[in-house]
Order: sequence, then structure tokens, then C-alpha cells
Amino acid sequence: RQAAFRSDIGALLEQVGTGKESLSFMKRRMRRLAAQWASAARRLHDSLRSQWREQKRILVHVGFLTEESGDVFSPKVLKGGPLGEMVQWADILTALHVLGHNLKISVSLKELQGFLGVPPGRGSCPLTGPLPFDLIYTDYHGLQQMRQHMGLSLRKHKCHIRVIDTFGTEPAYNHEDYATLHGYRTNWGYWNLNCRQYMTMFPHTPDNSFMGFVAEELNDTERLSIQRNKVDSMAVVYGKEASMWKLQGKERFLAILHRYMDIHGTVYYETQRPPEVPAFVKNHGLLPQQELQQLLRKAKLFIGFGFPYEGPAPLEAIANGCIFLQPKFKPSHSSLNHEFFRGKPTSRQVSSQHPYAEQYIGRPHVITVDFNNSQEFESAIRDIMRTKVEPYLPYEYTCEGMLERVHAYIQNQEFCAPEAPFPSANASSSWPGSPPSPFVLLPNSSALAWASNITPPSWPPLSALRLLASLEGQSCIDACQSAGLICEPAFYRFINIKEAFSGLEVQCEGVEAEINHIFPAFSVENSECGLQKDPLLFSCAGANTKYHRLCPCRDYRKGQVALCRDCL
Ligand code: UDP
Repeated sequence: RQAAFRSDIGALLEQVGTGKESLSFMKRRMRRLAAQWASAARRLHDSLRSQWREQKRILVHVGFLTEESGDVFSPKVLKGGPLGEMVQWADILTALHVLGHNLKISVSLKELQGFLGVPPGRGSCPLTGPLPFDLIYTDYHGLQQMRQHMGLSLRKHKCHIRVIDTFGTEPAYNHEDYATLHGYRTNWGYWNLNCRQYMTMFPHTPDNSFMGFVAEELNDTERLSIQRNKVDSMAVVYGKEASMWKLQGKERFLAILHRYMDIHGTVYYETQRPPEVPAFVKNHGLLPQQELQQLLRKAKLFIGFGFPYEGPAPLEAIANGCIFLQPKFKPSHSSLNHEFFRGKPTSRQVSSQHPYAEQYIGRPHVITVDFNNSQEFESAIRDIMRTKVEPYLPYEYTCEGMLERVHAYIQNQEFCAPEAPFPSANASSSWPGSPPSPFVLLPNSSALAWASNITPPSWPPLSALRLLASLEGQSCIDACQSAGLICEPAFYRFINIKEAFSGLEVQCEGVEAEINHIFPAFSVENSECGLQKDPLLFSCAGANTKYHRLCPCRDYRKGQVALCRDCL
């Protein structure tokens, strides 16, 4: 069946149900953004013309909201607890509904069992019949519950699963045996999924898919009124819970800031001002989302103290015409040196409170400085007061951008079909004609002739592939980025061939295939070249000081890094 865009969210609101503060928060958000989603759907409908969109049967099981996983978030919705996840799930549900798919929503084990046709109360009785869904969106908690309650059959059905995973999971952690053997084992990872089945909140590593969420968009009248009503000397602090105000040295830079600006906060409190919040801060208490937006429309500066990491609020602030000032982390925070990231299945280096804002948005909207350097801090404040900025929202965080991306994933990502085998490492073949240099346009080479006939055809399309070698010690994320491209894990299987080395004019003494998440890669010192033996370990994120990596890169759309030019 063809999926038809829906502009009414009434049925969705009914499906979401009641009885939890988290669900009420999500429904308030859905109602507030309904008109914005509807007009985005109209625009996407027009731009896709009559493209066939298959209607999918989709189950959304929000594991972290189930009583069985402890549901620690719902009771904190009105007390300053994390809301980013709820923002994201509300938007995922709305996107799937608006795209016209056939949706079932579960926030308890009982509902999950009901939808999957597993008899209740039978422990781990496996699902025996065919899976009644084409796609299941869940999270790590939900995955665990499915393992417990679908038993063995999870293995059979796991290609249908998508895991909403805020901070991401890198291949070395996802591969159970490899993680166990090489010290990458964490509480979360090791599910042996294709890493693109993990969907993140921000485009962290391209090994995962980027799901995202949306922020509010402004119409012309709102833009104009923001321009008129901005107060150049008004700052809002990022942090809705008192513990976020505990940063060391805070007094010093808050005192500097206070010399220039009035400081507002939205910190949750029960009866009196939290002791962490200085008396000169005007605290509004935790605000409903809509009122926070109003506050941000007046403010000139939104300032982070280093925590929470990578949430939606800075994007909302920038979308409402604020400048976001945030601390640079030196050294970067990661699972190796910071409690918050410890045990998360990634070694990503987090260079500031909000690396997406730093790297994808940047000046004049985002200023990242060392807060311990008073001079640098003070001159940033002066700059901010002088700078005029327009409200800005990257396309990928608009409703249309999210619909476009989710549509493209649903119609094109395929993890159930057996992957065409790639030529083995030992197969002897040579590069045809003269070897091309640095940028090898592999798609045109006869070494890849086998790949152009595979079914289903590659998505992203093979025409987007660009092969390059990283610097020694550099990951493919960085190597592709420095060429204005992005690493595309779906292309690894095409470049994991001997010809790729000769194409880059690399002298290999021999070519071995190994189980190592750095491969395909080569070491100049030892004239050693290695191919990847296990496709599950293809990794954009991997890096090793002794190796240059072979990197499959692709182009991307401006403001929509998840999609290549010919991806739609
Ligand atoms: N938020 C809110 N009221 C407030 C402060 C924040 O409704 O007083 C909302 C905000 O609009 C954002 C969400 O909380 O969408 C999550 O914000 P944050 O970036 O702090 O991420 P978190 O750490 O909660 O996931």
C-alpha cells in the first residue's frame, strides 16, 4: 500500500495514551507543533512529486518509559529531569504518523507482548509466527525486554529493529566477540546489529544513522517581533536542575557576566531558591516549553555551564535568535575520562558541551571558549552584545528536514536482505589502466563492475562514493570531513578490495584480511596492507596511530548531512 501524508494528529494523540507525566509532555509538544508538521508534510509531498512510498507496519516501543525498566524519567518531567529523550520520541512518533505509516505504540511490556502476539505471562515464550511489523523502533531498554520476552526469535527478526540511541554506538563496541576480546565491552553495546540500525540524536558518528528531532520554526511576523524585542543585555542560563549549576569557578565567570547582563534561569525548585543559584539570578523556575521559547525570544545570550551535554535547548535558543556561549573542553570529555560517558559504547571525544553547535553551526550563533580564561570569556560577552544575529535553524532540525530524512531511511535502508559478498582478499585482480591518484573515483572503475549489478542496489547510490586514505592515526570521520565529505559506512564493502590500495598507489608487501575495526588500512612503515574480514566491524570512527585508513566518503546535502545529493 502507498503511504499518504497525514495532516491531522488527532488519531496519534489518542494512541499515545495517558497516565504518565512524560506522555502528557509529549502530547503537549505534539499539539503545539502540529501546524508546523502539517505544512512541512505539504512541502515534502510537493517535492517528492508522485514518488511511491510504501506504507510500513511500524511498532514503536519506548523502553525507557516502561515500568519494567523502572521508568525513572516520568516522575522528573516537572522537576528538571531530562526532557531531551521525550522531545525526540514525541517527534519520531509525529514524523512516522505524518508520513502515513501504520503505527502501533507501546510503553509497557504488556502492550509489547500484545502487539507481538506473544501470550502474556509466559516468560520468554518466543514469538513463533512471522513478525507482524516491518519495522520496530525502540531503545536499549526495549531491546533488552525483547530479548527477554521474544527469546530466540529476536535473532531472526533483529534486522527489522531500529534502536534510538542518544549518544551512539561504535562498531568495536557493537560486535560482541570483538568487544569482549578487546576491551570494548560495556553495559549497553554488543548486540551485533548493523551499526546503522542505531539512530542518534545528533550526527555523532556516521557509523550510526542520524535520527534527530525538531525545533520550532518562525514565521515572518515572529521573526520581525523577535528583532524588535531582543534585549541585548539579557542572558538565560542553560540548566533546569540545580546540580547543573555546580560547575567549579562558576562564581568568577557569573560575576563577569553579571557586570554586563541581567541573568535569568529556569531552575526547578520546590519551595525556595536552590542554594547553587546566586541571588542576582532571576529564576523563573522550570517553565513549560512554550514559555521557555518566549523567554528565549527576548534574550540575547544562552549560556551553558558544561552540563547537560548535547541537548535540544541550545538549538531552540539559536532558532529564537540567541547566541549560544559554551565552554570548550580541554581535554575533551569521553568514556575514558568522564563519569557521564563511562560505559557508553563509544570512544567519541566530546570537545565542548554541544559539539554539534560548535562544529555544524559555529559563529556568529555559537561561541565556544575556555571559561577558565577570564579575558577570553569577557571579550566573548562584549562581542555577543555587539553582534546582531538572525534566528537560525539547520534544515535537518526542521520538520521538513526530519520528514525527508526519516522517509529516506524507511524507504531505502535495508538490513534484512543478505549483503552481496565482496570479493575475497586473496582474489587476484589488478587495477585497470593507469592507477588514479588521491581521489579515486571508484564507481567508474572496472574493479567495481560486480557492485553495480547487486540487488537491492546500494543506498546511498554507488555514484556518491569517493575513496581516500586517512592520515596516519586519523579516523575516516575526520579524513572525509577534511575533504568536505562524510564517511559512508554502507560503502565499506565496495572499497574493501586489493584494488583500492593500488588505486591509491600504496605499496603493499602482502594483503591480509583480519578481524580488526581499523581495517581496511595500511601501515607505511611495514608496507603492510589489511582488509576487513568481518563486515560488522567496518568503522568510520576507528583510528590507530600506526595506520592510514581506507575511507569511503560521500557528498552530503547542505543542512542535511544524512543524505547524499542523489539519495532521494
Ligand atoms: N525545557 C523546558 N522548560 C525549561 C527548560 C527546558 O521545557 O525550563 C525543555 C526544552 O525546551 C528542551 C527540553 O527541555 O526541549 C530538553 O532540554 P535540554 O537541552 O536541557 O536537554 P535534556 O538534558 O533535558 O535532555
